[in-house]
Amino acid sequence: MGRYEDAVAAAGKLMRTQKQIRNIGIAAHIDHGKTTLTDNLVAAAGLISTELAGKQLVMDWYELEQERGITINSANISVVYNFEGKDHLVNIIDTPGHVDFGGDVIRAMRAVDGVVIVACAVEGTMPQTETVVRQALRENVKPVLFINKVDRLLSELQVTPEEMQTRFVKIIADVNKLIAKNAPEQFKDAWLVKPENGSVAFGSAYKNWATSIPQMKKTGINFKQIYDLAQTDEGTKELAKKSPLYDVVNEMFIKHIPNPVDAQKYRVGKIWSGDIESDLGKQMLACDPDGKLMMMITNVSVDPQAREVITGRIFSGTIKKGMEIHLLDSKKTAKIQQVGIFMGPDRIPLGEVTAGNIGAIVGLKEGFSGETLSEDAGIEPFEGFMTQTEPVVVMAIEAKNMKDLPKLVEVMRSITKADPNVRVELNQDTGEHLVAGMGELHLEIVQHRIENDHGIPIATSPPIVIYNESVSKQSNTFLGKSPNKHNKFFFHTEPLEPEILAAIKAGDIKEGTEKNKDKIKERTAKLVELGMDRDVAKKVLDVYEGNMLIDATKGVQYLFETRSLVIQAFEEAMKQGPLAREHCRGVKVVLTDADLHEDSIHRGPAQVLPAIKRPIYACLLSSGVRLLEPKQNLSITIPQDYLGAVSTELQSRRANIEDMTMEGDQTT
Ligand code: GDP
Repeated sequence: MGRYEDAVAAAGKLMRTQKQIRNIGIAAHIDHGKTTLTDNLVAAAGLISTELAGKQLVMDWYELEQERGITINSANISVVYNFEGKDHLVNIIDTPGHVDFGGDVIRAMRAVDGVVIVACAVEGTMPQTETVVRQALRENVKPVLFINKVDRLLSELQVTPEEMQTRFVKIIADVNKLIAKNAPEQFKDAWLVKPENGSVAFGSAYKNWATSIPQMKKTGINFKQIYDLAQTDEGTKELAKKSPLYDVVNEMFIKHIPNPVDAQKYRVGKIWSGDIESDLGKQMLACDPDGKLMMMITNVSVDPQAREVITGRIFSGTIKKGMEIHLLDSKKTAKIQQVGIFMGPDRIPLGEVTAGNIGAIVGLKEGFSGETLSEDAGIEPFEGFMTQTEPVVVMAIEAKNMKDLPKLVEVMRSITKADPNVRVELNQDTGEHLVAGMGELHLEIVQHRIENDHGIPIATSPPIVIYNESVSKQSNTFLGKSPNKHNKFFFHTEPLEPEILAAIKAGDIKEGTEKNKDKIKERTAKLVELGMDRDVAKKVLDVYEGNMLIDATKGVQYLFETRSLVIQAFEEAMKQGPLAREHCRGVKVVLTDADLHEDSIHRGPAQVLPAIKRPIYACLLSSGVRLLEPKQNLSITIPQDYLGAVSTELQSRRANIEDMTMEGDQTT
């Protein structure tokens, strides 16, 4: 494979010519063809044979992915493409389309500057398309559109050329609607996708052809001819030769996705809250390979030798083998053993990887997704990722052999590090680990990782749905007394305003206690904007899992010193509601008054914690506590004939059917 080595050598060289680099994510609704598209680009670069492109699925290298035909991990690949006489390095991340792995998409978006939205011509934009567009735009990542599976329009639906055009227009309009709604203010117009300028392409990733309006002009093959050619196998082959997918798509990337230097000018301010005017700020804005190192980890995986492989975007400086680096969030230091870039399933070790690139580090045990790596300590780290998603199913796991227990604990730690959407808790009563995830498939993958990647046999319980507890009205005021009767706390609870809960979920109001004065002011302003009284908004002590603690007391002595215990007790209470010991959400807990013993010995944890948790429970019980059940939005497309059977199945699972539309013989 001579081309393979050539590509590797070229990639190593191109790393420093940043204007010739593009960092791109591929995102779509599941099964719309991301992986097939990526394979196609890889084949063109000579990394797998063109014959196998679309069939081999190089990107889906985790065996479970091949088995199920879906992408679970975000995979990376670098392709070298010659455009207008210049080699370009195109770094591509294929992201999962299954809803269970939405968190991976969010993290991948941090690493890239552009995203190609793959939409199936038959299905059009789907719920997950909408989600990925939103996730990309939130990170200031510029979209382009690829309409895939056009061959199916012809072979299965047998549409006329006019119908085909109408479909394209509708998909483009739908995607543009999403872009207009979610794009950053300054790009609302500029980032709309337009067929005329080539930011929209269409074709068949499976049959290796694609086109766009500029491409039609270049090749002289018009829409009608494409329509005719794509009807037959012979014609399709001709089309794949005359208008190959990789040319069209790579040109779209190179022309319409910004290079890292241009992109970092507007992206850095969005993802880093440090001082843009500082030296480091300027180095990042300029994507300076000779500046100080700033790298963000966007993915952690485990390779077959059970070593952690860290992937991340380098925003400034150069990461080198042997370098001492600081992990800013966890305040640790480490030495870099090996760095490189990805070529599909392979990792190519290089001496260094420079700013503007997506690099891989091996053997950095301490790293987790979202961590910032830097040369100096004490620097402002990158903003954390938005976690819009929360676990909805849970299962219990237990090591089959007691001797594996310490190893299991270690493995669980590394899994939560790699995937922040996995939550692990130790059940104190039974000693089991409770693993919560986004769906049954997600948990199955966790189980597979523990058993196959790490070789620990485990027993699991069937997954069950996670409920939450919440309240429906304001409670009475309750008083809690410490066991020694020296400390009193008065509480009431009420439902948290839905707008505020939504803002917490969206990450606009941060979870946790806030100590920074400016950030407190910012939070107060946001809460006031959302309709909270300013006097109340100023007194927010803690935000925890969608619940809020407010200190509405006036001049209570010693309360300040007891603050951290109050917060701890509130969080513990919110973790186990009074109905079914499920987590609470959407509860506002208001501390209205307190009376504390002057001697700190008499107000330790053993005294204070119960005196807070118990009245909070009493409040919850008197404010109509109830269970919340998670619901999923599903969109199901089926042939007419199955309508009856599917409706019956849905009804038996307590589904509400909100809407039904028909198209051809398909019902959605
Ligand atoms: P992903 O979930 O978005 O990564 O989708 P895949 O790339 O795994 O594709 C899902 C299925 O659609 C696979 O069976 C592919 O072979 C098929 N597929 C992908 N692209 C095309 C296409 O252009 N035409 C047709 N007919 N099938 C396609």
